[in-house]
Amino acid sequence: MRIPELLLPAGSPHKLRVAIEYGADAVYCGVPRYSLRARENEFRLHNLGEAVEFVRSRGKKIYFTVNAIPRNSKVPGYLRYLKAMAELKPDGLIMADPGLIMITRDNFPDLPVHISVQTNTMNYAAVEFWRRIGAKRVILSREVTLAEVREIREKSPDIEIEVFVHGSICIAHSGRCFMSNYFKNRDANQGACNNACRDQYQIFLKNPEKEDAQMELISSDEGTFLMNSKDLRAIEFLDTLAAIGVDSIKVEGRTKNDYYAAMIARTYRRALDDIGEGKSFDRGLLTELDKVASRKYFSGFLTRGMEDRLPADELEFQNEEGNTRYQSHYYAGCVKRQDADGIAWFDLKTRLCEGDQIEVFFPGQFDSLITTVGRLWRQGTEYEVLSGGIGEIGMHIPFPVPENAFLARVIRTPVLA
Ligand code: SF4
Repeated sequence: MRIPELLLPAGSPHKLRVAIEYGADAVYCGVPRYSLRARENEFRLHNLGEAVEFVRSRGKKIYFTVNAIPRNSKVPGYLRYLKAMAELKPDGLIMADPGLIMITRDNFPDLPVHISVQTNTMNYAAVEFWRRIGAKRVILSREVTLAEVREIREKSPDIEIEVFVHGSICIAHSGRCFMSNYFKNRDANQGACNNACRDQYQIFLKNPEKEDAQMELISSDEGTFLMNSKDLRAIEFLDTLAAIGVDSIKVEGRTKNDYYAAMIARTYRRALDDIGEGKSFDRGLLTELDKVASRKYFSGFLTRGMEDRLPADELEFQNEEGNTRYQSHYYAGCVKRQDADGIAWFDLKTRLCEGDQIEVFFPGQFDSLITTVGRLWRQGTEYEVLSGGIGEIGMHIPFPVPENAFLARVIRTPVLA
């Protein structure tokens, strides 16, 4: 069975490096002007070249996102950006706008075009349309089921297929949401979504005959978050996707932190490697994914129609709201260096206190180690406790830790979902 490519988001050069070091086969990134991450995105034309160089040095792939739906004003400048990007020879451009796709195909017919999830490609006829336009790959809509992916694969054998398997998802069909525009004048299709669907909303019932009487509808103890979707997690279906013949599995999250990139990459890498070795799915990997924050996980639309075949605990998750933040670990820091006396230095991200349990994750390997926090050092002074956000601190770790090892404070024992 062919193992799909593991494709990770890269919102900054460091996240890109970490994603690759923790197991990604490919990364995607793009400049804010034409990509759907206009904010919290450190890539510009001038540093894309270094990204390509780093990825190539590791024998991996890089795709540039050009998936915004631009207005007229952005069209004239596109060719300049396109030429600069084409010179770097990325492995593909992820695109959504038919006009920009046409300009790209006309000027650089050899540059592979991947059709973005923003196009809502839901069926094999649409996939065939994009194949005839010259696309090399189609990223299917997040609203397709596994059965539909299978049928699309069977009826579209001559084009690569990519499927989202992890990360935040929209309450609306991708690319069809105007909530952010409506509430904040921030256009989701220009990469400026303000995540309006995640907010708490108040909903009232009003009887027109009793003007003063309003009844608030509250859906949980925490409030009403009717539009806040849980996060996608399809790691337990990777063997199915591989058997179907999906070419690439994709993780969402260019705006998420480097710890997220590392943890998701290492866990999905392990799951794919297990498939390659003929092993069945290790349900312990579900708890590995709880080491990053989520709004609780579900398998999205992929398992629609399969409810009777899902384990009871997963079925329960399908029906919960996504407002509950869940995680078993807090990100504590990413190691920059370790001195000869064992002190590791990192920017502190959460409160650490003597006696806390820390799990240490290493680039290039799945196995982690646990250590206990002792004294902490900051600017030549020793502390028993320090708060996150104060900058660089030192902590003794009784074993070697390389640059880009991640430290996470254990806050609860992961429970198998
Ligand atoms: S507001 Fe929510 S549903 Fe709409 S585009 Fe943004 S994340 Fe997606």
